[in-house]
Amino acid sequence: MPVYEYRCQKCGKRFSRFWRSFSSVDESQMTCPACGSGHVSRLISRVRALRSEEDRLDTLADPTMWGDLDENDPRSMGRMMRKMANELGDEAGELGPEFEEVVDRLESGQPFEQIEAEVPSLAEPDGESLPAA
Ligand SMILES: [Zn+2]
Repeated sequence: MPVYEYRCQKCGKRFSRFWRSFSSVDESQMTCPACGSGHVSRLISRVRALRSEEDRLDTLADPTMWGDLDENDPRSMGRMMRKMANELGDEAGELGPEFEEVVDRLESGQPFEQIEAEVPSLAEPDGESLPAA
């Protein structure tokens, strides 16, 4: 079920429209819900699609994003990793449950050595992780 975003050329209103299927998409009859104008144009459907992988990595590499990062301070690292996960959005789920746990522990101020010792899957990846259900 595709969802497209549109912008009215006349009043500038943005709106979304659900279509039953790709083949049912018929934009010839589209009108702006705000002003009724037929001059609407489709925007890229998802914000994510606007940002290439490269843009995203640039954002992650942008030092101003991390601000007060102190690599020796677990809490600071935890905040940074949390930000990074937010930046990754849905894909952060692919980092696995260990990531969440590590961030939680960092944010509570645990030193890296302790985290590494207490989260065994970090030290030795088993190489065969099952996809999360
Ligand atoms: Zn309009």
